[in-house]
Amino acid sequence: VGFVNVIDVSWPISEKMTVYKDRQEKRPVITQTRAITNEGPDAAESKLAFDSHLGTHVDAPKHFVKGGTSIDRVPLATYVGMCAVYDLTHVQEKITQADLEKLSISAGGIVLFKTKNSALAPEAPFNPDFVFIDAGAAAYLASRKIKAVGIDYPGIERSQPNHETHLALLRNNIGILEGLRLQHVAPGNYFVVAAPLSVKDGDAGLCRALLIEGL
Ligand SMILES: [Zn+2]
Repeated sequence: VGFVNVIDVSWPISEKMTVYKDRQEKRPVITQTRAITNEGPDAAESKLAFDSHLGTHVDAPKHFVKGGTSIDRVPLATYVGMCAVYDLTHVQEKITQADLEKLSISAGGIVLFKTKNSALAPEAPFNPDFVFIDAGAAAYLASRKIKAVGIDYPGIERSQPNHETHLALLRNNIGILEGLRLQHVAPGNYFVVAAPLSVKDGDAGLCRALLIEGL
């Protein structure tokens, strides 16, 4: 048995964590429902109320495609398998097709983009100028027939009233993994596990995303 290193690339969940556009209804509520006290044996339990797109999560095609596949039916291999982490920390505003053409992205894989978004603290206010994937880059990824793409912010697009980036990917059943934390990750190849919660008929699922080295 060799050396295996497990790297957590998930957004820590807390009531203070960054949420999409700082919308109050997107903020998780964590309530302690049972506590261990001095009076005798008991248990610690809590109730979590959270948005389906909180923190590190997977979008199902159903998120933007009418009649699209729900999260409980997305094949797990979409988010479990070999992946490549690419360094795009030099990108200032958005990831374009020209940025991606330099990367030699192969078909059938999972690609994760490390951008300057990852330098933001996990409880920082939402940055409306986050680096995103533009429509042309999304169409290019679809043409490369990848399995899934991941980005290090709670959204993969912005300033797109018609959601071209989500649609170019989800209409082709390409997985979208949002809310990764990649500041501590070196570019390279890893085995990724980012299985979403199996929410029946759900539009998305939170996940604990892990990169595994040495398998
Ligand atoms: Zn989402």
